[in-house]
Amino acid sequence: MSSKADVIIVGGGLVGLSCAHYLKEQGADVLLLDRGRYAESASAGNAGMIVPSHIIPLSAPGVIAKGLKWLMNPESPLYIKPSADPKFMKWLWLFQKHCTVAHVERSVPILRDLSLASKDLLTQLCALPGFENVGLEQDGLLMLHATEKSAKDNAELADIAEEAGLDIDRLDRDATMALEPALKTKVTGSVYFRQDASLDPERLMRALEAQVRNAGVRFLDAAVTGLKRSGNRVVAVKTAEGTFEADHVVMAAGSWTPSLVKGLGLSLPVQPAKGYSVTVPVDEPSIRIPCVLTDEKVTITPMPGSIRFAGTLALQGYDMSIDERRVRPIRRLAEVYCPPADVAAQETWAGFRPVSPDGLPYIGALSKTPNVYVATGHGMMGVTLAPITGRLIADRIGGHTPSLDDAPFSAERHA
Ligand SMILES: Cc1cc2nc3c(=O)[nH]c(=O)nc-3n(C[C@H](O)[C@H](O)[C@H](O)COP(=O)(O)OP(=O)(O)OC[C@H]3O[C@@H](n4cnc5c(N)ncnc54)[C@H](O)[C@@H]3O)c2cc1C
Repeated sequence: MSSKADVIIVGGGLVGLSCAHYLKEQGADVLLLDRGRYAESASAGNAGMIVPSHIIPLSAPGVIAKGLKWLMNPESPLYIKPSADPKFMKWLWLFQKHCTVAHVERSVPILRDLSLASKDLLTQLCALPGFENVGLEQDGLLMLHATEKSAKDNAELADIAEEAGLDIDRLDRDATMALEPALKTKVTGSVYFRQDASLDPERLMRALEAQVRNAGVRFLDAAVTGLKRSGNRVVAVKTAEGTFEADHVVMAAGSWTPSLVKGLGLSLPVQPAKGYSVTVPVDEPSIRIPCVLTDEKVTITPMPGSIRFAGTLALQGYDMSIDERRVRPIRRLAEVYCPPADVAAQETWAGFRPVSPDGLPYIGALSKTPNVYVATGHGMMGVTLAPITGRLIADRIGGHTPSLDDAPFSAERHA
């Protein structure tokens, strides 16, 4: 394998693969380095929802209070492990600073435009030969509620979504059941987001990998251990398999990106937020429309030949262990829809969402080393936003005007 490329991408999750796709499309010679891909990446076992509905950033008023309330409940969907780690303290400080109405108002149109543009790109991608079995379904998403509190939360979300121009419906219980008769969970109503979609994210990863390999992207299974600099440029990437030179380097290593850019003088405040999923094989999923249970914060996604239940957001560092207490609500939900023995037979999957403190991703070059680009921080929306991220990175590296304003995603906005 040649030890030189136009662009080296570090990280082969959906974000890295999307960057590879759009860079190759404009003729770049691309080398993708990854140390663990399907085993380590968050991109394979997640809920697979394409979510323009998620226009409110995670850092929103009331989230901290909710986190504190849930602190003592071992089955709660949000867990923040108390820690004196300075990086975590900085992240938490920035996070609480963004939990304001003003930040939500500013972020809503940004997230809307980003996710709708990305969904268009994803739809085009999935129309290519080789993507037939990724299971892209444009059936929308039901945000279900079962209590007065979650009905109020959903009504507020619906107001914001409607004002932002999203295509939604407010449904009572009967209308919800008419739309999705297979629902068995308690529900008093829902908000139906027509523009949402779903797919099997691991199948998307495999199809995208095959697509870019066929196009000539080279892959190497190797951990990046360091960077070689010359003046204000990174000229090579070091791995145990050798050193590889490049004109441009894209850091798309999900939750692990901060350690890769640390040596370049950037303290990137991305934290790993662990989540779980349980996937049960079925002949035909009974549920047709993906659902979010607003009270429990768990999701149901029908996929080709399976149904996936996912949830939990645990900020406890890079601890990949599975806390069965937090998986319990997910398994309980799965048992409502699938035979308990089938649920019990399935292992729990865990992955790290790369979470930024303001709920927006980091997409862009570094000013001190302008041939290095960062593409991470997508949090709960990495599947949704991977295509537009790849497009924006390719636009910048190719010297083109970005397809949409990328200023809000500056990698250095919290430096
Ligand atoms: C439970 C759960 C449910 C989710 N549901 C959804 C959803 O429904 N919709 C949605 O849009 N998003 C969802 N997400 C979020 C989504 O999964 C992530 O945002 C997305 O997968 C991040 O992709 P990525 O490519 O940035 O990172 P990853 O997929 O984590 O990939 C990073 C890659 O970098 C590699 N790497 C790291 N360090 C190095 C190194 N030093 N050298 C070489 N390689 C390295 C790793 O091996 C890994 O393969 C969910 C996440 C979870 C956990």
